Amino acid sequence: MSDVTVRPEPESEAELAFEGALRPKSLGEFVGQTKVRGQLQLLLQAATMQSRTPDHILLAGPPGLGKTTLAMIVAHESGRPLRMSSGPAIQHAGDLAAVLSALIPGEVLFIDEIHRMARSAEEMLYLAMEDFRIDIMVGKGAGATSIPLDLAPFTLVGATTRSGLLPNPLRDRFGFTAHLEFYETEELEKVLERAARLLELDFEKAALREIASRSRGTPRIANRLLRRVRDYALVHRTVAGRDAVDAALELYDVDPLGLDRLDRAVMHGILTRFDGGPVGLNTLAVSVGEEAETIESVVEPFLVRTGLITRTPRGRVATPAAWDHFGLARREASVPTALFGDGL
Ligand code: ADP
Repeated sequence: MSDVTVRPEPESEAELAFEGALRPKSLGEFVGQTKVRGQLQLLLQAATMQSRTPDHILLAGPPGLGKTTLAMIVAHESGRPLRMSSGPAIQHAGDLAAVLSALIPGEVLFIDEIHRMARSAEEMLYLAMEDFRIDIMVGKGAGATSIPLDLAPFTLVGATTRSGLLPNPLRDRFGFTAHLEFYETEELEKVLERAARLLELDFEKAALREIASRSRGTPRIANRLLRRVRDYALVHRTVAGRDAVDAALELYDVDPLGLDRLDRAVMHGILTRFDGGPVGLNTLAVSVGEEAETIESVVEPFLVRTGLITRTPRGRVATPAAWDHFGLARREASVPTALFGDGL
């Protein structure tokens, strides 16, 4: 149902290649997240001075904010190789044992979406993180025995969009947790200036500023909208200025706040079906035909940060700004569908 243009997950192989080219390689090149950058810098320097592996790091926050990029930077800045895996790829303890036993000393292991790893693997990870050791079970039932296996010292970098889903014993084993925040417009402007420079694109400053303000606080979306506007300017043989941005983003249905169709469907649900709320997460998810997890980890944080909804103990409530943004009077019975696009 949702338009992919402003979804924060990578869209395609082409986008992944494009992202690879734009990914900052050092903390110095990484825009924004000033506090987290300072904390990581200290952590990496301290480890280097003591000639040990850096502490395990948990990166939490919505998709597209730079978690994978930071994992790569941790490896690069500490001069260590990086091995990449993900929660969904670790469905059995054996999958994790295979990854861990293949690590070379000092390696950085990145596990994306770590909250989706199998429970049995999580338990194995506790011991691995704490003592660089695992117990491998051999056999079944009464005859089963466990064989201890020493691992090479490593640094785990876990990324999650749902830190609340991680069991406490796992969360506690990370020496450092960074909560990544949505970016300010000025920061996204810097991300875009850098991207335009690297790609040798000639964009007007006002155009970059407008793209930045419509990018859902997310660098991945900023870079994607930059591509869309570049394409538009190329095809229409026009300068990449403010007019091109407005026309391209209208074509792709990105509204002035950067809301996409799913954001608007959620707002539509809260404002009209539930009269502004409060409405519970699951009810809301069912009403828009989406997974509760997507609503909670991707849609809701942005709507809260934009000031369109608030979370209360009784559920999600639309703010006065939400009624204004959609041009609705509170308790109005019908809504012009054009505001929310078709098919809702
Ligand atoms: P996540 O792992 O959180 O989903 P990524 O690290 O894959 O996000 O970031 C997506 C893209 O956004 C990267 O390829 C990179 O080009 C860009 N990006 C993310 N954070 C920054 C940043 N702070 N500065 C510059 N570019 C960034």
